[in-house]
Amino acid sequence: MPPKRTSPTPTSRQPTPTRDMLIVQCSKCPKRGKATCSQQACLKCCTDESCSGHYEQRQYQIQKDLILKSQHPINLEAKKIRELKTQPGAFHEPALKYMNESLLIWSFDEYMKNQKWKDDSIRKSRRFVEGNLYKMFKFKERKQFGLPYKKESRRIRFKRVVDHLYRESLNSSK
Ligand SMILES: [Zn+2]
Ligand SMILES: [Zn+2]
Repeated sequence: MPPKRTSPTPTSRQPTPTRDMLIVQCSKCPKRGKATCSQQACLKCCTDESCSGHYEQRQYQIQKDLILKSQHPINLEAKKIRELKTQPGAFHEPALKYMNESLLIWSFDEYMKNQKWKDDSIRKSRRFVEGNLYKMFKFKERKQFGLPYKKESRRIRFKRVVDHLYRESLNSSK
């Protein structure tokens, strides 16, 4: 014989407080009041500013009023940002939408006066051109044999650069 399933009878259950139980009729008007309110009143009739039952509703109302008056901290922050908006045509650069955005200004003449920067940029530029020439040369060479272009390995590139510098030093010592 299977054991009988015992289910708790409704009377043995402890009633859990529901939303309906927290709502009573307002003590001052026919509207619904809050049971947790110190005056058991609705928000309009409740005169207790520090009432715990209406705390959340009051906070929400304060925020709402501030937003309607455009005085909410977020409204003020947005206003500040809007005031910093640049006028169309103020800058040639269209990426600058608001004031106080970073802009780095440098002069080519000033840059070239610095010997280290100048040498550095010339070396980089030369390396770029040589690299491209080498690629073109290799591409053509390999194409003759129907092979795809292969990227120059670091070891081979190092050898080529050293070779180039050696040949250059021979030319300058003449
Ligand atoms: Zn209250
Ligand atoms: Zn009321």
